[in-house]
Amino acid sequence: RYASIGFFGLGNMGKHMVINLLKVNHNVTIFDTDSKTFDYFKEYKHVNIANKPEYVIQQSDFIILMLPNGDIVRNVCQSNIFPLARKGTFIIDCSTIDLRTSKELAKIAQNEKLHFIDAPVSGGVIGAQQGTLTFMVGCELDDFKSIKPILAKMGKNIVRAGTNGSGLAAKICNNLLAAISMIGTSEAMNLGIKLGLEKKVLNELINSSTGQCWSSQSYNPCPGIIPNIPSNNNYQGGFASELMTKDLLIALDAAKDVQAMTPLTEHATKFYQEICSNGLNKKDFSVVFQYLNKE
Ligand code: NAD
Repeated sequence: RYASIGFFGLGNMGKHMVINLLKVNHNVTIFDTDSKTFDYFKEYKHVNIANKPEYVIQQSDFIILMLPNGDIVRNVCQSNIFPLARKGTFIIDCSTIDLRTSKELAKIAQNEKLHFIDAPVSGGVIGAQQGTLTFMVGCELDDFKSIKPILAKMGKNIVRAGTNGSGLAAKICNNLLAAISMIGTSEAMNLGIKLGLEKKVLNELINSSTGQCWSSQSYNPCPGIIPNIPSNNNYQGGFASELMTKDLLIALDAAKDVQAMTPLTEHATKFYQEICSNGLNKKDFSVVFQYLNKE
């Protein structure tokens, strides 16, 4: 029989991940505190909408979480999942949360004979929709073998980064780099244009030179260069600046714990905080280009 899966968090990412599980005939029991999110699933078979979180837990061999932050994940685990889950249940947390909370939850789960695994993702809403997410997984090897087939229904690259917390460690390292290179690309494009360069010419030169990076190549923050990305749609959709700020704060917190120097991450964090407090918190993180041109 197909494994029964429970899913908490049907937001921008979670709803698409659930659809990909339903497409391959998994039975999925879903819950979100915002009942409007259930509307999306009306026409699908094999989906059970839970009125209460308890129903998700009793039905499931695997419980997947795609929630906003560590406090919420902790709350859902400690109030709902841990007391009710059957022994041996796999709890796969795909949210991006702080490493400390995640490792603590993994320990508590282990004492209860449950498996708590960090499996944050990269690839954004489009990756979630197309089932091409990268999963960065932190758990024991045996657990990885058990959950990999489930993750493979929602993603393309499923990589075990190490033991508990390692998936999150990899995720925040990637995201701090994405934030810094997004700011760098925005500064370069902004300065070049002000110096009189044609934006497409400048971008082509960067992309065939040493400044080339994902932001310049695939997600250019300057409008009018790459179609169908947030910078061409008034910075709507994509990955919100407030979520990037949260991830940068998680990176700084982790860096402090191991005394790693992160001077540019500190600058990037302050800059994104400033962007958010100027009302751009829901805009995609490439909005930094627009912000550099504020009045
Ligand atoms: P979102 O805010 O769109 O969705 C979160 C959902 O969780 C909402 O529907 C909310 O109602 C629900 N929720 C909140 N508390 C709940 C509870 N106690 N029980 C059940 N549901 C609850 O967020 P998102 O963009 O889907 O991101 C989710 C996570 O994935 C975040 O940690 C984010 O950092 C990470 N992430 C997002 C992206 C992206 O591009 N959006 C990419 C990679 C990782």
